[in-house]
Amino acid sequence: DRKRREQLYEVNALATKFYNHILMNHPAGAQGLSYLLGRGLTKKTIAQFQLGFAPWGGRELVRFLRKREFSTDVIVEAGLGMLTSDGELVDRYRNRVMFPIGALQGRTIGFGGRALGSEEPKYLNTQETPIFRKRNVLYGYALARQAIRKTGQVVLLEGYMDVIALHQHGLANAVATLGTALTQEQASILRRVVLDDVILLYDSDSAGQKAALKSIEILREMEIPLRVASIPDAKDPDEAVRELGADRFKAECLEQTMSALQFQLLQLTHKHPNHLTSDRLDYLRDAVNILAEEDSSIEREAMLEWLSKTYSISVAALRDDLQTQLRTKS
Ligand code: ATP
Ligand code: MN
Ligand code: MN
Ligand code: MN
Repeated sequence: DRKRREQLYEVNALATKFYNHILMNHPAGAQGLSYLLGRGLTKKTIAQFQLGFAPWGGRELVRFLRKREFSTDVIVEAGLGMLTSDGELVDRYRNRVMFPIGALQGRTIGFGGRALGSEEPKYLNTQETPIFRKRNVLYGYALARQAIRKTGQVVLLEGYMDVIALHQHGLANAVATLGTALTQEQASILRRVVLDDVILLYDSDSAGQKAALKSIEILREMEIPLRVASIPDAKDPDEAVRELGADRFKAECLEQTMSALQFQLLQLTHKHPNHLTSDRLDYLRDAVNILAEEDSSIEREAMLEWLSKTYSISVAALRDDLQTQLRTKS
């Protein structure tokens, strides 16, 4: 009910402050602070994203929250504490850098907690709660909305650090889906605010490329214009923008986009490793099937030309098969 939800918002707000205080002012947060500074973040950025640190002891946060009259129930439901088998309330997050996740208006509704080293899981995220519904969340949205409106574009990323790094480099129209493909709910949020197009920029590893293909399907279903950007040299946007700087990152990543269709045709080559030789015809058949799903005839024509050049086959032959596909579709 409403009162319960309000309590969940309040406990998340207080935890955000607590973790941030530990990070910035307490010896117990020193390791966290040097971790974040070591990854190139400034104190200003840390303050802007209200980053924090969950201390090692295992009871600091819950003790603090209990003193402020929050019930064990609320603390557990918020995902901030958990009960041991002895029924003792302990912190859920220990020794992790804390990324508060904001609702669309910016109030904290959950957290991602990053391990300092290679402990698993790398990120521990809040489970679903009455106020934290992952499908509806876009990390960084409240801080990005103005810039999205101003530029007409949104840069859609995978991770916390990607969003934060782009913001710090003055690219404030960036949000992330937190390691998964876009949901319909997230897409409708974007549709309300994006005037021009969505620029999809996922990690260049295979998980990222798979998520990109799924996100493309959702965006296309919802008729949201999009372009696909990519990062040279197999890195993620955080590493790339740090290495290249804002101007080169813009010129070499964000402005080197391709259509969703082109991206799909390039991805399809992974399914046919010998697409240039023995698998050429299989590849082309699948490629034509993908073209048949595209509504824009300009896009289809452009890719017919590209396939024709790349695979030395006449546009007429490709168009012929495409027409057959389109006829069987309708
Ligand atoms: P970092 O730069 O800190 O290593 P990353 O954002 O590059 O993090 P990826 O492995 O590329 O990490 O994952 C992208 C996003 O997916 C993360 O930012 C996080 O939101 C989510 N994620 C990654 N690993 C996990 C996990 N084990 N559990 C839940 N979510 C995760
Ligand atoms: Mn990745
Ligand atoms: Mn990364
Ligand atoms: Mn990554």
